[in-house]
Amino acid sequence: MTDLYIGGTWTKPVAGGQRSILSPADGSLVTTVAEATAADTVAAIRAARHAFDSGLWPFTPARERGALLSKVADLVERDRDAFARAESGDTGKRLVESEYDVDDSVSCLRYFAGVAGTDAGRVIDTGRDDAISRVVYEPVGVCGLITPWNYPLLQTTWKVAPALAAGNTFVLKPSELTPSTAILLVRALQEAGLPEGVANLVLGAGPEVGAPLAEHPDVDMVSFTGGLATGRRIMAAASATVKRVALELGGKNPNIVFADADFETAVDFALTAVFLHSGQVCSAGARLLVEDSLHDAFVDEVVRRAERIRLGGPFDPEAQAGPLISAAHLAKVEEYVAAGLAEGATLRCGGSRLERDGYFYPPTVLDDCKQGMRVVREESFGPVLTVERFTGEEEAIRLANDTEYGLAGAVWTQDAGRAQRVAGRLRHGTVWINDYHPYVPQAEWGGFKQSGIGRELGPTGLDEYREIKHVWQNTRPRPQRWFPAN
Ligand code: NAD
Repeated sequence: MTDLYIGGTWTKPVAGGQRSILSPADGSLVTTVAEATAADTVAAIRAARHAFDSGLWPFTPARERGALLSKVADLVERDRDAFARAESGDTGKRLVESEYDVDDSVSCLRYFAGVAGTDAGRVIDTGRDDAISRVVYEPVGVCGLITPWNYPLLQTTWKVAPALAAGNTFVLKPSELTPSTAILLVRALQEAGLPEGVANLVLGAGPEVGAPLAEHPDVDMVSFTGGLATGRRIMAAASATVKRVALELGGKNPNIVFADADFETAVDFALTAVFLHSGQVCSAGARLLVEDSLHDAFVDEVVRRAERIRLGGPFDPEAQAGPLISAAHLAKVEEYVAAGLAEGATLRCGGSRLERDGYFYPPTVLDDCKQGMRVVREESFGPVLTVERFTGEEEAIRLANDTEYGLAGAVWTQDAGRAQRVAGRLRHGTVWINDYHPYVPQAEWGGFKQSGIGRELGPTGLDEYREIKHVWQNTRPRPQRWFPAN
């Protein structure tokens, strides 16, 4: 059984709890890990606080912090196969996708290793010969890092790497469903020589083990990736101690296809946009908006190809998509499809769970959808594509922006001017033109509206984890005599 990592030691939870991690593909036992309680989280927060206040890591030169992250990247690369297998075991994700995720995580570690120490702040001209004014960056302090189950390693790395690069200490709480790669990453940090107490790991359920990270006064920042409802709860809890809050929440992302799009490519990407990782992707293109004149041919081809997607377990080389994460999630996806059908959608393919072990739900296309439907407005987070028609740019933009979310979206057209016009008006944090899903660590990733607060990756990804301080120094202090001396 894997224990908690607190203050540099692998520790048993005070209440002695444990949790079995079961494969979503067939229910088999993947591993057994410790199950913490709130008391363990508080112990981990104390360890992170002590490590921060001792000053060792915050005052380690930024370039040395970067060098440690480089070493961690090397270790993750060395153990690529173990990371990928652990990720697939927990999530049911195809091994090849887990391998991409490990490689992306290594790129993220290397990116923040390189960024650390490159920006030492700035000196401001005071207009005086007796004063110096400097703006410097400092770590925020103790960070509570809470991550979801869909991209466990990548989401964890996107938080851990900038937090460490900026000189913070942290308590990490991965999803209780998928803890294995967070455990491996913490082992890599330990092996790379991170000082005791800088990284702490607690495992267990969100409301019990995660909640203290948003509430405890010794935590300076909470960085959360997950669902909107949980994000709202965390933001409310963090307000009591005015913590810095970074939220990466969900999306209900439009994929807009104009009639002049390259037909074959747009169909191909419409499938990838929504069915990659069985739709369990925050930026999934789950809302297909297709121009009226193209609708019939386009949707027929999407359906024809969706029906051929082969589902299977993570280690099945023939599989093209895997299971959903849990029985509860499968039931939620079923409920959204049922709601869509009850509200007037037309089922074009999929629509009922597979009769086999594991939580498999087939690629599903719902046509004739309308903006008011629950399945259009809320995140099903499954392999469910809703289709709506539009005529012209204005209607496409209106439908695309008619959502409380604002994470990502795409526009498909061969008219270069229209591509820029539409992209410019989408209220979504990432917009792809004639593409879907790629990202680069140098570019910011974040949401408009209720998709989040703050940015991960990119230059400002580091800024989430550091404070900006203005230092003014009078170099010839003497009495000012603003007021009479006597
Ligand atoms: P979730 O909100 O249920 O859980 C996320 C994490 O929060 C888990 O570790 C969970 O244990 C913890 N948690 C739950 N309740 C908590 C509480 N009261 N206090 C503290 N922690 C708590 O989300 P999920 O189901 O794991 O993940 C799916 C969601 O994540 C989707 O909505 C998806 O869109 C979103 N997501 C967003 C991004 C992004 O970059 N914007 C990326 C991946 C996933």
